Amino acid sequence: TSWVYGFGAGRNDGRAEMRNLLGGKGANLAEMASIGLPVPPGFTITTEVCTYFTGNKGAYPADLDGQVKAALARVEEAVGARFGDAANPLLVSVRSGARVSMPGMMDTVLNLGLNDETVKGLEAASGDARFAWDSYRRFIQMYGSVVLGVDHHRFEEIIEDAKLAKGVHEDTQLTAADWQQVAAGYKEMVREVTGADFPLDPWAQLWGAIGAVFGSWMNARAITYRRLHDIPADWGTAVNVQAMVFGNMGDDCATGVCFTRDPSTGENIFYGEYLINAQGEDVVAGIRTPQPMSEARAKPGERSMEAAMPAAYAELVAVRATLEKHYADMQDIEFTVQRNKLYMLQTRNGKRTAAASLKIAVDMANEGLIDHAEAVRRVNPGSLDQLLHPTLDPNAKRNMLTRGLPASPGAASGVVVFSADEAEARAQKGESVILVRVETSPEDIHGMHAARGILTTRGGMTSHAAVVARGMGRPCVAGAGGVVVDYAAQALSAGGVVVQAGETITLDGGTGEVFAGTVAMVEPKLSGDFETLMSWADEVRRLKVRANAETPLDAETARKFGAEGIGLCRTEHMFFDPQRISAVRQMIMSETEAGRRDALAKLLPFQRDDFVELFRIMAGLPVTIRLLDPPLHEFLPHKEEELAEVAESLGADLATMKRRAADLSEANPMLGHRGCRLAMTYPEIAEMQARAIFEAAVIVAKEAEAPVPEIMVPLVATKKELEISHAQIDKVAREVFTEAGMTIDYFVGTMIELPRAALTADKIAETADFFSFGTNDLTQTTFGLSRDDAGKFLPHYVEKGILPKDPFVSIDVDGVGALVEIAAQKGRATKPGLKLGICGEHGGDPASINFCEGIGLDYVSCSPYRVPVARLAAAQAAL
Ligand code: PEP
Ligand code: MG
Repeated sequence: TSWVYGFGAGRNDGRAEMRNLLGGKGANLAEMASIGLPVPPGFTITTEVCTYFTGNKGAYPADLDGQVKAALARVEEAVGARFGDAANPLLVSVRSGARVSMPGMMDTVLNLGLNDETVKGLEAASGDARFAWDSYRRFIQMYGSVVLGVDHHRFEEIIEDAKLAKGVHEDTQLTAADWQQVAAGYKEMVREVTGADFPLDPWAQLWGAIGAVFGSWMNARAITYRRLHDIPADWGTAVNVQAMVFGNMGDDCATGVCFTRDPSTGENIFYGEYLINAQGEDVVAGIRTPQPMSEARAKPGERSMEAAMPAAYAELVAVRATLEKHYADMQDIEFTVQRNKLYMLQTRNGKRTAAASLKIAVDMANEGLIDHAEAVRRVNPGSLDQLLHPTLDPNAKRNMLTRGLPASPGAASGVVVFSADEAEARAQKGESVILVRVETSPEDIHGMHAARGILTTRGGMTSHAAVVARGMGRPCVAGAGGVVVDYAAQALSAGGVVVQAGETITLDGGTGEVFAGTVAMVEPKLSGDFETLMSWADEVRRLKVRANAETPLDAETARKFGAEGIGLCRTEHMFFDPQRISAVRQMIMSETEAGRRDALAKLLPFQRDDFVELFRIMAGLPVTIRLLDPPLHEFLPHKEEELAEVAESLGADLATMKRRAADLSEANPMLGHRGCRLAMTYPEIAEMQARAIFEAAVIVAKEAEAPVPEIMVPLVATKKELEISHAQIDKVAREVFTEAGMTIDYFVGTMIELPRAALTADKIAETADFFSFGTNDLTQTTFGLSRDDAGKFLPHYVEKGILPKDPFVSIDVDGVGALVEIAAQKGRATKPGLKLGICGEHGGDPASINFCEGIGLDYVSCSPYRVPVARLAAAQAAL
């Protein structure tokens, strides 16, 4: 077996694709060397050795020793120096390198191979005694702490003593003789602490460092990190041994880290920092201020690498182009300049912000480095949220109060108010308000609309507040259990801090964080790149993307973001308008059909106007309108004066009204008298809604292209329910078309949101034109898990790994997904062309969209602001 892969020493055994065997760093060093870039020679000991080492109590494969010796001999040959040679010593670095970079592991030992003899050789070769002794003491310090486990304070104390003895403050004021003394002090201290002499034999040093890297794979920090990031323990780490180059041998030396493009904006400029006469760790240590790469980016007083070392800089610029062309992605690189000669020490794909990711993908496609499909793959759909909403300024000061669920993205600041009416009143005066509620209900819609952001202390990711806020594009933190709301005192408390109504807080709906006071924000900028990438996504996507929208504003937003119709119009959200609510209450509270019809007649024109507007905005596109769904009690009058008003309109007394309200209340409304169950008992409500839809369709058809209404019956459990509703709707259609003297195409379908409906979908399909999966209720009923109460304990399930993800956010493929798949198959077995969509919150979640693509749904429908996310996710799912 080959345990060792050489690079740069006249042969390159590895390639970039071999990252599983060689780790990311080793694979890329080999790749860079093989495309002719200046890489100091070295070799990589494979991750398989790590696995062997871990499984054999720290032992190595028998033939490893020979392979390491042979590889090191090639490095000696290439460099022209010998390991342990007092006159001309080869020095090496030893670094870990897993498949993915992993903090928590031992990472680097530099200058290995130095001892009391070879330090003199380094002095002779460099002509600089101070440099040589400084390098030696750095080596003892690094090796002592990372390999031998000596606390780093013990080393710092010795330096402090040396400075004190000389009466100086800076390391730079110490001379060669001082460093020599420090090195001696280090060795003595190491013997004291570890009970053994510091290893002076270079081979002992090398095997010590290699063992420390492999051993660190199983240290507690690394194990924790792997658990948090789902990294399997059997991946192992590789070890890279590489000839040292020095960036700290004088003013013609330097070291730096940079990105081939700006990682925060994506701009195509060379971006990074370097330091003259410094070793790698000095750049990150923050003691000296690193300087910019390009002259264009240099501020007054700064000295760019371009100006200071023009030849090495020019070489680096050429390397940058080669790397980008070769890897076809933005690179994060480390380099060292030794005596004006450039060496590459690392390259990897660079991390970047959402905005940069988008710009880089589009630019690289335009530059011909990648194709359109690859550009589409490169951008994380979830990150688009960041681009569509204001976000907190990453540099702003902040004072966190608590954290809840990240229910709707974006950031908002405003004064705290505790009621929807107050929110509306203060917003009308021009104030920014944050509506804080234990939970919200449909009665709060106006306040949610008026608010800049919404905070609730109860409820999960599909609670009313979360769903409505996402639909409106309002930032929302839901289920913040750490906040106690005291409506009576008009105050909230969180983490020991009390915030009164009228005081300011800030929400970050993307992280779920809540802050005291105002936090500075950055406004979203939608670049042309966004449109470009979206158009490329649309070229490859199969799934259609619709929006969940009921107001004209939502519908317009949805179209602006590219929605191809409405997949769910929740008509109950149209009932809370102050002009309508009293008629709605009259309808519910009436004990006779005549009374209800009377009230419904008042509602008809309002509903018709609503649909006319939606059909106009969605001209020529499908619009799915769902019949009234929620339990009636949500509309009940609460206050005395509301009860009195309804009593008067119905000609009843107050006591009767109170009794009726009590009758209507349910123990478990989510499983109660809602959805199509309302149409079974009060068919006149569905009749009114159907009439409003058809009359509106006729009006719009006479002006322009006829809309295609898709009428959707909610919460169907049996075929019979849908049959009855379907017949009611058809009857109204015939009536309206006769009156209008024209007919319009329409469809009647159902939501599949109960397990029974999914399992009997073949029967239900006999009377349905389409299915739309209501995965919010389907998740609730499949898990037997209340949507509105789950926020209290579901986060714990996810933290403890009992559930991999919140099933209200990302579809539970094994359970809920299985039901969706069964229903899709059964439905299409009955009707091959049955149109299938999804309109639960999962319709905007990339992983769930990928699932929908896999089972061949026709469309997904999501809140307007998630439409771009869904378009991109659907494209990636299709690729
Ligand atoms: C659903 O249940 O998934 C759905 C879309 O309907 P609602 O959220 O209105 O219950
Ligand atoms: Mg539902």
